[in-house]
Amino acid sequence: MICKRCGQCCFHLDIFIINPRSILPDGTVRSDDPEAMIFKPAQQMCPHLAIEDDRATNMTTCTIHHLPCYRGTPCEQFEQLGPAEDVCFMSGYFLRQGRRVCEPQS
Ligand code: SF4
Ligand code: SF4
Repeated sequence: MICKRCGQCCFHLDIFIINPRSILPDGTVRSDDPEAMIFKPAQQMCPHLAIEDDRATNMTTCTIHHLPCYRGTPCEQFEQLGPAEDVCFMSGYFLRQGRRVCEPQS
């Protein structure tokens, strides 16, 4: 799947993420940390999501994507959805609804 880095999935979906407070200096989390995973509700900004440039481009970056603690998370598994050569269908779905990152729909 080709990710357009729109951040739509990181904002609009319910998902379990790595707790920012649980990340160790080497980018891992302790396996016995009961609070290493926290729930991020839909329509709420993920604390790991950074918006690049300005709102015109709306490009985003996951600030923990390169860290060891990201491996095996629901976010990494989500990236595996869809054919490898296709653009992410979720991005187009949200954009067709007129949704943007950081603008919750009532
Ligand atoms: S919705 Fe798709 S294209 Fe947008 S950030 Fe998520 S995986 Fe990438
Ligand atoms: S951890 Fe990264 S990939 Fe997962 S929701 Fe947050 S910003 Fe998106």
